[in-house]
Amino acid sequence: MSRIAVLGAGICGLVAARNLGLSGHDVLALEAGPETGGVMGSEKHDGYLLEIGPNTLALRPDSAAISLLAEMDLLEEAVDANPKADKRFVLRGEKLISVPTSPSALLGSGLLSLGAKLRLLLEPFLPRGKDPDETLAAFVKRRLGKEVLDYAVDPFVSGVYASKPESMIARHAFPKLVEIEKERRSLILGGMALAKERKGKPKTRLLSFPKGLATLTQRLSQDLAGCIKTNAKVQKVRRATAGWEVEWMEDEESKTECFDTVLCTLPAHKIASIKWEKVNSQEDLKALAKATHYPVSVVYHGFRREDVEHPLDGFGFLVPSKENRSILGTLFSSTLFAGRAPEGHVLLTTFVGGERQPELAEKSDDDLHRLVIEELRPILVLNDSPSFQHIRRWPQAIPLPDHSLDDRLAAAQRIEQRNPELRFTGSHLAGVSLPDCIEGALKQSSTDG
Ligand SMILES: Cc1cc2nc3c(=O)[nH]c(=O)nc-3n(C[C@H](O)[C@H](O)[C@H](O)COP(=O)(O)OP(=O)(O)OC[C@H]3O[C@@H](n4cnc5c(N)ncnc54)[C@H](O)[C@@H]3O)c2cc1C
Repeated sequence: MSRIAVLGAGICGLVAARNLGLSGHDVLALEAGPETGGVMGSEKHDGYLLEIGPNTLALRPDSAAISLLAEMDLLEEAVDANPKADKRFVLRGEKLISVPTSPSALLGSGLLSLGAKLRLLLEPFLPRGKDPDETLAAFVKRRLGKEVLDYAVDPFVSGVYASKPESMIARHAFPKLVEIEKERRSLILGGMALAKERKGKPKTRLLSFPKGLATLTQRLSQDLAGCIKTNAKVQKVRRATAGWEVEWMEDEESKTECFDTVLCTLPAHKIASIKWEKVNSQEDLKALAKATHYPVSVVYHGFRREDVEHPLDGFGFLVPSKENRSILGTLFSSTLFAGRAPEGHVLLTTFVGGERQPELAEKSDDDLHRLVIEELRPILVLNDSPSFQHIRRWPQAIPLPDHSLDDRLAAAQRIEQRNPELRFTGSHLAGVSLPDCIEGALKQSSTDG
């Protein structure tokens, strides 16, 4: 049995700490904030249930995340998204256009012009690409054409990463697509073949919980009771004669304890704020901290149902860069899951900023509310002012899988090789989606288990 310090208690830290505890280790998770969960959190305000960060957990049937939920008896408590959420909209001009979900629907859809639809017919005949470091934008443009990039992939990337396809490396951002090209050449034919193979098999589920996604992190924290310290900001990690000394601030007092192993799950931008003493590879620690982040503000508005004319019959809508708007997209949160708004009201969650317009995320509260309402008014046909509003700011929202990811992964590997029993994970290395975070945390916490 080893004594192990887990730094940070977001989803990665909590999952890793649980896994290490189950393997019989003596674990202590140190969390700087007053609560665990990191960017995952569900808050009740004036009868509205707000997600401060992630809104949905997409569970593939064969994923480590689904096994975790099953082990924790959380699958019965989980709620699937409203089937209406299968419908997703993209803004084109003044109109919200439903994103086609099948090749036949695409033909009849107004999302792409006739020229762009004809261009898709070329795709099965195109050769494989040669550049392993191709950006997502170049990959999609080469295979599917510029309009698919502008009206399908660009808004999707801004919805997931608050970033631009031009900054993303295709094999990091969408590894499955790159794999299809490698193995089957055509994305369209390969995609159709895969869909056929998957027919009749369980589908990916889009989940939350009646009280919000924080149920998962709260349950993990309860299971770890006695093994977590909150308000414990780690300040120093130092190699000792045997193992590691970790120093943190607790109630304005500095505390130091010794551990056999340290597993760091802190966000990349926080790694640089810690003193790493006697750690081989100081240069690699600097490289690890260099993830690219942009600020995002999450702007919530509640309306009386009758004050929004749009039926809100979907997941929400995304805005392509080409449309030159001031918002990235809006979730129809009260359609997505029940219990998000008081009776007779609806909740809209809008994202502002990201790589496209980082400066907008930093506007004052009043300006942000004004800007969002001005954008939403004609699109959703708002007949009155919101009866509820709230903002959550993320100055360094999402670590991008851009050109720096290879360097960061290599740096983490070198540090781990040169410093036995010092390990790293987190969304900046494992991937930003919750299932990727969970898988990464399980992997990094299982090798000595
Ligand atoms: C706005 C937004 C929307 C998102 N939407 C989705 C979505 O719908 N679906 C999805 O799958 N993913 C989504 N994501 C991504 C996903 O939520 C994150 O990738 C994931 O939650 C990150 O978890 P983490 O444990 O790596 O980091 P974090 O949650 O950042 O946790 C790190 C923890 O370390 C703590 N810490 C920092 N410094 C110290 C220190 N010195 N000492 C001790 N502790 C410290 C922090 O307080 C924090 O609790 C979203 C993210 C954001 C920001």
